[in-house]
Formats: sequence, C-alpha cells, structure tokens
Amino acid sequence: MFTGKHHCQSCNKKTIHKEVLIRKASSYDQQSNLLGRFKLLLHTFINGGHYYDMDRYVACQICGQRKLDNKGNEFE
Ligand SMILES: [Zn+2]
Repeated sequence: MFTGKHHCQSCNKKTIHKEVLIRKASSYDQQSNLLGRFKLLLHTFINGGHYYDMDRYVACQICGQRKLDNKGNEFE
C-alpha cells in the first residue's frame, strides 16, 4: 500500500496520504437481475479476478478527505 505526502485542501497543508483504490461504477452494477450478476461474475473472471476499472484516490490520514489521483501509473 502506497503512502505519501500530498497537499490536503481540507487541512491546507501537506499531510500523509494513503492510497485507496475504488472500483468505478460499471454498467453491470445497474443490472440487479440474475443475468446481470452472471455477466458481472463473468466479467470479473475474464479479467483474472481483478477489476481493471479502478480509480486511484489518496486519502488524507488526518481528516480522511479523498482526492482523485490517477495521474501516475508508476505502481502498475
Ligand atoms: Zn486533511
């Protein structure tokens, strides 16, 4: 798990931030029927059990505020 110092708008200073990965909402999530769930399972299986549609956030460890941090891919 990546941690680093980022500027926090809420704290208005550089604080320790922890990396958080949150899955993007996909069209599969709209489907609550059995077929939709099956497709989601299949989709997950095809991706090797991993969701590729992840947003990377960094969360301030002081106040908990999250911000999107998809700029760098150096950890992939
Ligand atoms: Zn903060």
